[in-house]
Amino acid sequence: MQENATTPLIDRFNRRIEYLRMSVTSRCNLSCSYCVPAGKLSDNGGCDMLSFRDLLFIADVFARLGVRKVRVTGGEPLVRKGIEKFIAQLAETPGIDRLALTTNGVMLAQMAHSLKSAGLKAVNVSLDTFDREKYARVTGHDGLNNVLSGLNAAIDAGIESVKLNVVVMKGVNDDELEKFAGYTIRNKIQVRFIEFMPHTKGAWNAGQYMPVEDVKKRIEALGALIPCSREQWGGPARIYRLDGAQGEIGFISAVSRHFCWECNRLRITADGKLLTCLFEGSALDLRSLLESGASAERISTAIKEALMGKWEARPGFDSNVNDAQGQVAMRHIGG
Ligand code: SF4
Repeated sequence: MQENATTPLIDRFNRRIEYLRMSVTSRCNLSCSYCVPAGKLSDNGGCDMLSFRDLLFIADVFARLGVRKVRVTGGEPLVRKGIEKFIAQLAETPGIDRLALTTNGVMLAQMAHSLKSAGLKAVNVSLDTFDREKYARVTGHDGLNNVLSGLNAAIDAGIESVKLNVVVMKGVNDDELEKFAGYTIRNKIQVRFIEFMPHTKGAWNAGQYMPVEDVKKRIEALGALIPCSREQWGGPARIYRLDGAQGEIGFISAVSRHFCWECNRLRITADGKLLTCLFEGSALDLRSLLESGASAERISTAIKEALMGKWEARPGFDSNVNDAQGQVAMRHIGG
């Protein structure tokens, strides 16, 4: 790995930033109920996306600041034309040695092999139900079979890490927890149960919130959960394995037990806004800097200054209230 870092990005709380989540589009081919407020179709959100050239320039600036992992998100990143070529170019950025993607998986089956050849190391697929009708109800699209084919294609292509992200919603998919856990028995995949977060106004529903401790108790009824050591780029998930299973099970307690003290990430929206937290508004407008012809050094300095505004932890939220806290819609951030 070529050394590219100059001064590491460290915030006021001594957290080192090594992970950048980069949204490349707000467009999506789904309209998930917990992302797109009821009745709002998932358009591009009026988002004027940065060019791939600008996104590569920004990625290089972050790599020089010690960022080593980049996760490409959306909206749905695979709907953006030229995404495979962009992933290949991003994989060439010196210093970035972990390239990941978050997708809804609907288009993954036909792209998994080319993404692997492009240098993709990890893919997280968002899937909240194995029930075809329910899938269509939650996402507004009859695409479950495509997603399952996409998962198999990602495993077949040999992408190092294939994970399934399940947002647990009471009364929606909490009747399938055992089925998701059972999926890890014969599949070399990591299924992660994620707490529904009070993020997007009009999409958050406190009545659907279920803490992962309750999810874990349900899974433990299936058999002993053997703790697994945390992988290098594993993020905040607590990982276990059911005895004899090929795959793993993760629990992400974003509401009940936050992990802000170890936050190592920054986010960029598709239109070039830098967010220092999932729940914060824009801390820096990278697009206007790029349009002003700012140098890499100037942008680097601006990023470091913006980082000094990163809070210690997200606002405490009471999961019982219908008070969503996100300041930028989830489809502009990609989680
Ligand atoms: S809520 Fe914000 S500060 Fe906390 S882990 Fe997430 S991004 Fe980091």
